[in-house]
Amino acid sequence: MRRTFFLILFALVITSPAFAEKLKVTASFSIIGDFVTQIGGEDVDVDIIVPENSDPHIYQPTPKDVRKVTHADLVFINGFGFEGWFERLINNAGGKGKIVTVTTNIIPRTLMDAKGQSVYDPHTWHDVNNALVYVDNIEQAFIAVRPDLAAKFKHNADRYRQQLRELHAWIKKQLQDSSIPSHLVVTTHDAFWYYGQAYGVTFISPVGISTQAEPSAAVVAQMIKEIRAKNIRAIFVENLSNRKLIEQIAEETRTKVDGILYADSLSDPRLSDSPAKTYIEMMRYNTLEIVKGLKS
Ligand code: ZN
Repeated sequence: MRRTFFLILFALVITSPAFAEKLKVTASFSIIGDFVTQIGGEDVDVDIIVPENSDPHIYQPTPKDVRKVTHADLVFINGFGFEGWFERLINNAGGKGKIVTVTTNIIPRTLMDAKGQSVYDPHTWHDVNNALVYVDNIEQAFIAVRPDLAAKFKHNADRYRQQLRELHAWIKKQLQDSSIPSHLVVTTHDAFWYYGQAYGVTFISPVGISTQAEPSAAVVAQMIKEIRAKNIRAIFVENLSNRKLIEQIAEETRTKVDGILYADSLSDPRLSDSPAKTYIEMMRYNTLEIVKGLKS
């Protein structure tokens, strides 16, 4: 009798629309899109606003993006000023959708912009320890709206946290290689400070924390001087940025561009030779490229 009761209850629960439907979530850009996919698994449908290989700093939302926000149960953003276009998008969407800032509890780097105003460096995901905080925040947000799926979300998050801890240790090990002569790297925009802090690399870039600003001739000249003085050999472009400036700097300093680093976006998953389709792939790829560049 008792067993029948529970069977009927179970049947009612799994056939009720609220429980059968997948959670609809929207992520502001591809890296957060990967995190929410890893933790949500088969129980979420993920939409991404800024697609792979597009620049989130200068993105222009479309009417389709308004729908992605209004239709979502949860909207995940990075915060720290990364999605400068988000507020307008939310206003256009009538403020619907529950917004989750995945960097909650992370203390950001603060710096001055060109106008002398204090701004945050939003590129926190490049330290895997910060990615672990993203995972905790995403897991809690999922559990809050679907407590019935808590065990599944926790299972997915635990498995992913384990992979991230292994990734963190692996990156550290790659950069502690004693045959690396120096740990100075040139990149286009100032996106890798958190990576540098976590793994012992100093990044120098002509462009600031946003890709919007063009560097002045004086800034470029100063950089060329620094590269020559410190004999920096590891010079990279980024997947989203204009190669021209870095190529010009490499030419002036008689070095060569070592390759591409993925800063603010994953690579296009539709291409078979895409090296950074997930966050973990991106971090591994960047690390191998940086080590190769430093040894060159
Ligand atoms: Zn950036």
